[in-house]
Amino acid sequence: MRYNVQNRNDEISNQLTANFHRLAADRGMKFDEEAPEVVVSIGGDGTMLHAFHKYSDQLDRISFVGVHTGHLGFYADWQADELEQLVNLMAGTKLPDSITPRIVQYPLIELEIVSEHGLEKYQVLNEFTLKGVDGTLVAQIDINDQIFEMFRGDGICISTPSGSTAYNKSVGGALIHPSIEALQIAEIASINNRVYRTLGSSLILPKHHHCDIYSSKTQRLILSLDHLTIAVDQLQSIRCAVSAQKVSFARFRPFPFWNRVKQAFIGQGFQ
Ligand code: NAP
Repeated sequence: MRYNVQNRNDEISNQLTANFHRLAADRGMKFDEEAPEVVVSIGGDGTMLHAFHKYSDQLDRISFVGVHTGHLGFYADWQADELEQLVNLMAGTKLPDSITPRIVQYPLIELEIVSEHGLEKYQVLNEFTLKGVDGTLVAQIDINDQIFEMFRGDGICISTPSGSTAYNKSVGGALIHPSIEALQIAEIASINNRVYRTLGSSLILPKHHHCDIYSSKTQRLILSLDHLTIAVDQLQSIRCAVSAQKVSFARFRPFPFWNRVKQAFIGQGFQ
């Protein structure tokens, strides 16, 4: 198996990475930064986002695995002290017949952004946000080519199902199981009064729908794409839809999504 490791570059992640390479070499695995089959993220969810964007042009043939080193680790199935067990499973040694990696695929969002930078296409694993730099964001939101609302407020957060537990959750959006191919549009502090009106709650679009955002005036905007940010001064439009492509995670043992949610947000101590 060809693999690469993406890590958070702190002391513990660097140490685990060195251990991983040693254990992998002992088991005949081949380090390959250019064309790995599996990318192991060692750190937190932010590390997985970096790994995803680094290999976003090879998603059709790469699977990701997460090892977390102390942070939340929503995308990470493995603890630091389970590294050898993970490498054994990856290398296929000491495998009972029943344990084979299962590939779990999660939906992504594709974006087409038209601005002074021209037409740019992106895919995001967590979410995309749009905010004004100098104050209130004013933007027209169309759904399936019909005007839906004129948004005024701090910003808009459009998330994938696996990203629904990230920024989307902080702004009151619902958590969506990643087997549901959908995107969620959540408001960030919208202005609602007799003059200005938005829906006021988040909404969920199915795979065959799309959403367009038009900036209503020349305003300086900040776009975030997962952990990346882009400044845009003359936005024409942003089209978002559920991507035709998905991201693959290699699961060497079951870790159901709702267990992940419970572990991350409720903890084990509360019944
Ligand atoms: P960061 O500000 O260093 O970390 C943001 C936090 O979000 C970390 O605790 C991270 O977990 C967690 N996180 C990331 N993806 C998640 C997911 N799918 N489910 C649950 N939690 C998740 O930023 P970063 O590490 O570069 O990550 C960028 C992400 O931060 C963005 O995609 C956005 O979702 C999130 N963010 C959230 C807010 C907010 O909630 N108000 C504001 C800005 C950005 P780890 O500790 O395991 O890395």
